[in-house]
Formats: sequence, C-alpha cells, structure tokens
Amino acid sequence: MIVGVLGAGQLARMIALAGLPLGLDFIFLDPSVDACANRLGEALIGDYNDPELLAQLAERADVVTYEFENVPAEVAEFLASHTQVYPSPKALAVAQDRLIEKSFFRDLDIPTPDYAAVDSLENLQQAMSTLGYPAILKSCTQGYDGKGQSLLKSVDDLTSAWELLQGVPAVVEAFVPFNREVSIIAVRSVSGETVFYPLSENLHRGGILRVSECRADDAMQQQAEAYVSRLLEALDYVGVLALELFEVDGKLLVNEFAPRVHNSGHWTIEGAETSQFENHLRAILGLPLGSTAPVGKAAMVNFIGGLPETEELLTIPHAHLHLYDKAPRKGRKVAHATVRTDNRQQLSKSVKQLSTLADQVDDS
Ligand code: AMP
Repeated sequence: MIVGVLGAGQLARMIALAGLPLGLDFIFLDPSVDACANRLGEALIGDYNDPELLAQLAERADVVTYEFENVPAEVAEFLASHTQVYPSPKALAVAQDRLIEKSFFRDLDIPTPDYAAVDSLENLQQAMSTLGYPAILKSCTQGYDGKGQSLLKSVDDLTSAWELLQGVPAVVEAFVPFNREVSIIAVRSVSGETVFYPLSENLHRGGILRVSECRADDAMQQQAEAYVSRLLEALDYVGVLALELFEVDGKLLVNEFAPRVHNSGHWTIEGAETSQFENHLRAILGLPLGSTAPVGKAAMVNFIGGLPETEELLTIPHAHLHLYDKAPRKGRKVAHATVRTDNRQQLSKSVKQLSTLADQVDDS
C-alpha cells in the first residue's frame, strides 16, 4: 500500500514513522527539497498545485492524506476525483475559514465564544459595541499558532488591528478568561468506527503550544467527546481530528478544529497504547482502530527555535526525544520530548526540567 501525503514536515514524518512497521510506503509532495519527511519515502518536490506532480501523486498513491489544513480547495478536489482522499475536501473547507467553522459549530449546537464577522473598520467598531473588551480579531483564513491575530484591549486598538489585516475578512471574538485549554483527539475510520483519546491539557505561549499533558479521567472528557462526535458525524469524517477547547466556569467552549494529526497529541506516541499517527493510518486505510488507552501518565514539551543537547535531555528521567531533522530557526518547532511514567510527581518533575531546557533554547 502506498500512502500519499501533502506536506513533508514533522507531522508527515511521524505519520511515516508509524506506518513503516505496518508495511506501508510513503510518497510526499512538498515544495522544500530538505523537508524532514522526505527521507522516509519518495519525495515529489514542487508546489502543492503543480498539476504534473499532483497527477503523479494521485496515480501512485492508494490513499492521500495531508499534514496541514491550508490545502487549496481545487487541489483536494482534484485528488479526490482520482483517488481516495481523507479527510474529505469538505472537512478541509470548513476548517480553513474561521467564519464557516464557527457557524458550523453553532449549527451543531456546539458552544463557541461570542463572535461577529468583520469586513471593514466600521463593521469592527459596530461589533465591539456589543461584544465588549477585551476581544481578539482573527483573519478568517491562513491563521495558525496565533498568526493573523490581534488582541483588542480598548477602542484605541481598533484602527491599527484592522490595518494589520490589510482588508482580509476576519472574525472578532470575545476574549475567554479560561481556566485552562484542552483538546480532544478523535479518530473515525472509513467504517465509522470512532475512538477518543483522553483529553490533552495544553499550555500556550505567544499563541504557540508549549506543553501538553494527558488528562486521563478528566471531568470534561464526556462533554468534549459529545461535541467532537457531532462534528465527526456531520462531516462524515475519516482520520484523526483535533478539537481545541477552552474550559471556563466548568463549561467547554470550542475554539477550533484541525482536520489532521495534532501537536497536542504527540504524547500518544509513548503515552497511549496506539499513537494518533498509527490510528490516523488505520482509519484512512479502513483497518481496525487501535486502543487509545493511556499507558501511565504522559506529557509532551515542544522545542521551538532551538535544539536541546541530546545527552543532557536524555539524563531527564523517563524522557524520550523526537528530533524533527529541521534546521533551527526563530519560532520553528524543531523537536519535542515526551515524559511517560507511572508516577505523577515524577512526571511533573521531568516536565519542569524539560521546560527549563526548552526555555533556554527558545529564541522567541
Ligand atoms: P488559535 O490560533 O485560534 O488557536 O489561537 C491561538 C491561541 O490564542 C489559543 O490557543 C489561545 O491560547 C489564544 N486564544 C485564541 N482565541 C482566544 C479567545 N477567544 N480567548 C482567549 N484566548 C484565545
């Protein structure tokens, strides 16, 4: 079986690392010659909308998936008309536009922060008179890891925030004074079989994920599963999906979803019976899904902008290092480390040590 992947970054790399023991072969399409998954399969190097390369990918791959959601709609449609593509172009289309995504949630009775669509400064001023401060202005498309976003603290911020967007359509949403951020990684297979991982509790800084911890038996698990189930069903979804949520006053509000494997699920490599990467492959190939049961207690720390010394990191008890084979660059995710142990105190201690290392090499 040959699995085609759009994108050859660290997510594609970890998908391939999970697929090789299952006897799968991989073919990647990515513009970068030294994309970090390339050495794990065959590399097609060029633009995502290069018709010749897309035709090759569609012809050679038994199934195509992707590691990022900003795949142009026409590319996903083209591939889907020639081969199996999971998740579907429809799931991509919903995830690519914050406004479409939020109204999709609303239609499914999945609560979100209050929001309004914005396409002019006057519009924004009007919306803010009912929404109240603070709020966040986000571009509808092309935003991730906090990019294309501005915090609005008072009326004085409106003009500069709107100008920063350079006229692209946007959403303004109420700032949520959350107690914590969580995500749920769900998997639905071609047959409709669905499984959920325990919630991940996530810490962000500057809009970028820093630490995720597996929260087995979390009081919010059921609620999160109910919301993500509605989404999976409505999209007739196939593959791994990550739903990001805010917990505020004992309730969950949905922020957004990613139609792909997700950074907040990296702890599943060592911390769950089956990783999110393996289950994504099982789902899109119509294979039985693997158990999502946690194996002890686990957490993950991201390395951003700079790499830790391997030897120093591996002295930390129960730490496992995942290097992405990417050149360090400001704000770039270059590695992560997981801690897995049966002892909660040890988990906290090791995560603290890893976080200190991550802060030392972080240049953002
Ligand atoms: P996003 O790109 O929407 O995932 O936002 C990145 C991060 O910004 C989130 O993980 C939160 O930490 C923060 N954030 C986004 N939207 C809100 C909001 N409405 N209220 C509070 N924090 C937010």
